[in-house]
Amino acid sequence: MSLNQEKHQSPHHVVIVGGGFAGLEAAKQLGKAPVKVTLVDKRNFHLFQPLLYQVATGSLSPGDIASPLRGVVAEQKNTHVIMGEVVDVDPEQKKLILRDQELDYDTLVIATGVSHNYFGNDWSEKAPGLKTVEDALEMRRRIFASFEAAEKESDSEKRKALLTFAIVGAGPTGVELAGALAELAHTKLKEEYRSINTTEAQIHLIQSGERILPSFKPALSEKARIELEKLGVTVMTKTRVTNIENDVVTVRSGETTKDIPAHTILWGAGVKASAVSEAISNRTGAELDRAGRVFVNEDLT
Ligand SMILES: Cc1cc2nc3c(=O)[nH]c(=O)nc-3n(C[C@H](O)[C@H](O)[C@H](O)COP(=O)(O)OP(=O)(O)OC[C@H]3O[C@@H](n4cnc5c(N)ncnc54)[C@H](O)[C@@H]3O)c2cc1C
Repeated sequence: MSLNQEKHQSPHHVVIVGGGFAGLEAAKQLGKAPVKVTLVDKRNFHLFQPLLYQVATGSLSPGDIASPLRGVVAEQKNTHVIMGEVVDVDPEQKKLILRDQELDYDTLVIATGVSHNYFGNDWSEKAPGLKTVEDALEMRRRIFASFEAAEKESDSEKRKALLTFAIVGAGPTGVELAGALAELAHTKLKEEYRSINTTEAQIHLIQSGERILPSFKPALSEKARIELEKLGVTVMTKTRVTNIENDVVTVRSGETTKDIPAHTILWGAGVKASAVSEAISNRTGAELDRAGRVFVNEDLT
């Protein structure tokens, strides 16, 4: 049999990039189809992102929210998993370019999700975001290190800054983080420290827009604000972060600018498309929106 004949007879090859909710669901839907499926992800596990905030605040462990991709699709005999990072796509040649190998495809599904958006500011070290297990563990480290440092600090101003947490962005991530942090400080840790009173911890939720959870109905935003305030969160709307420096977050509301000394600053303010979108755009001329997402047709092509 010639190579061409062999190629002709091999099943249609669907390559899916990304084992998040979108890519994994696509793979599952194709589990019984007469195609060969290759699922590519730079991680070999599916991450249940909605519970990352609980890892960040210490109520869950990373293993509770991560499932090995190979295990998830083990029953699907037509599905292969490759751990690798996609760096480019060549649609002319129908080739997917990974950091260390290339893959031929017949149909390509891109489901690489989003990453943090700092809107051009260099704040990623000062205010980590929450998208990966590593992000959640870094947040957890910073949060608990702050309580520990506060316990040893004798200077009252410094102690106050150590017990001040600023969360930038009041979408679902920021709201969940603020609520979980408030519960941690005001309830769970209450009896555990001797020198500090963890209930004095201040949690600021900073939102540039008019209301928190702007993607929800106004009545739900209002309800969430009331609940957060009951938990002890200071909700600041129409307030924009203008700088983050040396444990101080500078905010502007109308004409007023103020500095909030906060040792722990967490970012939940925006997302941008993964780098793969840019590669697609470069190769195909596909239009991107301001967050770098590829405009798609109704059928997602
Ligand atoms: C903290 C948090 C809380 C959330 N809470 C909720 C909620 O309560 N309800 C809700 O509906 N949604 C929630 N979401 C949003 C939801 O998690 C996302 O909408 C969803 O995960 C998006 O799925 P996805 O498959 O598009 O991308 P992702 O889940 O991000 O998956 C993308 C996958 O692509 C892989 N990948 C990326 N780039 C590459 C590359 N170059 N090469 C190979 N692999 C790559 C990644 O490793 C990842 O596995 C939350 C998100 C976060 C971060």
